[in-house]
Amino acid sequence: QSQRVAEPSKKDDVLLGGLLVPGFDEQACASRYQAAYYYHKSMARRPSPYLVKRLREQEALQRRCGPGTEPYARASERLRSGQTTTDAGDGDADGCSYLVLISYRGLGNRMLAMASAFLYALLTGRALLVDPGYGNTLADLFCEPFPGATWALPADFPLAGFKELGEDAPESYGNVAVNRTGSVAGLAFVYLHLDHAASPASRLVYCDDHRQFLHRVQWAVLRTDQYMAPGLFFNPAYQEELGRLFPRKDSVFHLLSRYLLHPTNAIWGMVTRYYNSYLRNADERLGIQIRVFDNSRKPFQSVLDQVLACASQEHLLPAVATTTAPPALPAAGARSVAVLVTGLNSWYQESIREMYWTSATAGGAVVSVHQPSHEEYQIWFYSKHDMKALAEIYLLSLTDRIVTSGWSTFGYVAHGLAGHTPWVMFRTMNYSEPAPDPPCTRAMSMEPCSHGAPSFECTRKEIDRIIDTGVLLPHVRHCEDISWGLKLT
Ligand code: GDP
Repeated sequence: QSQRVAEPSKKDDVLLGGLLVPGFDEQACASRYQAAYYYHKSMARRPSPYLVKRLREQEALQRRCGPGTEPYARASERLRSGQTTTDAGDGDADGCSYLVLISYRGLGNRMLAMASAFLYALLTGRALLVDPGYGNTLADLFCEPFPGATWALPADFPLAGFKELGEDAPESYGNVAVNRTGSVAGLAFVYLHLDHAASPASRLVYCDDHRQFLHRVQWAVLRTDQYMAPGLFFNPAYQEELGRLFPRKDSVFHLLSRYLLHPTNAIWGMVTRYYNSYLRNADERLGIQIRVFDNSRKPFQSVLDQVLACASQEHLLPAVATTTAPPALPAAGARSVAVLVTGLNSWYQESIREMYWTSATAGGAVVSVHQPSHEEYQIWFYSKHDMKALAEIYLLSLTDRIVTSGWSTFGYVAHGLAGHTPWVMFRTMNYSEPAPDPPCTRAMSMEPCSHGAPSFECTRKEIDRIIDTGVLLPHVRHCEDISWGLKLT
């Protein structure tokens, strides 16, 4: 029997102020409507009416041009036959052009990439197609975001070897812009290389104003492991549109991720069972994301010290009692704090839990400490592993306050989805040394940090001269955790 998720009067809340489109099968993807209403308490920001309008237009474009349609069949045949882009003209007679996102790297990176690619597709009027990745993990992880259309790149996509494209490919944007002076003659597609370590020439994509050559190209293939939004704000061609889409610049990822990234039922079951068992009844939920960038898999005392120092400095965890008063009777109404720890290693969580077992809290609060999994090491494109990672990212997003590890895209996605401004622990380059002091800081916004934004101005495009782009725009600033990173505020 079909179960409605909420009364009609609550519809606007369920649909996040128009961010979500009604009419999807609620049972096929329970998280889409349930997350908004029953789990995430509220949106940190409402979507602008203009964003809602553009989302509906993008959905229509995905339906008209996506896989299974005549225009898609014609466009992929063009690509198969190597038909050059200049012949294709502006899109083609069907008015369909495409952005294909290559999937690579860890889940946090992939989620930042998906939100970024979607934004770029929206800005450039392209249909977005996402490479399902090695092991075809896309469908195991995420529901389809567009009604009546698929975003999964079909298995018979004709461009063989597209996953191996690199910066030196003739089709690479940097090559076309710099070495071919913008000529796309003879090219069947253009490749946009926006990996975090991309060369300045490749990063010229951020400044493409669509009056040059890219708009003549029906197929664009994008490789990114990055959050692209801060970089796109530098582009004069997009500034006005971005301003209308996002009157508040500090919540671009929050809105896009809530719109786009809905976990499948298998993952949503993991999220909700865990939440209801261990987190729901607490007065307060604290998320601590521990990411150690070290392959040795052993735990580090300095990391535990840093977590505890941050929690103490920012008053995030109840202090433990220093005097040994006799144990008190159970106090009615004692404040309960549930701590959700995520990480590949379980030692940190066990240590924190033991601390609250062997010592009382100073104020009488009751603390429980939980960690859903400890996978020990990172595995690429293995569904079971990625599903746990996504469940944990989602669980973190359901906490009230979040401490994250600097540099980690896993943490960025969690606090972005949540709509919380996190406490960011500074990354150390040597975990054998004492923890950084100060251990952490409150971030300036809920936005993810981009590790690969352009280092030049779009009005000048001087790619050989690196300038400080963190001072050019009032709402694009250096990140707390990476000096060369940029984030929206
Ligand atoms: P980043 O490397 O920290 O930027 O984050 P990514 O998500 O891109 O890559 C890290 C990968 O390691 C994740 O996708 C997971 O596969 C794994 N991983 C890291 N931390 C955790 C964790 O706390 N829980 C789980 N389940 N997996 C993790």
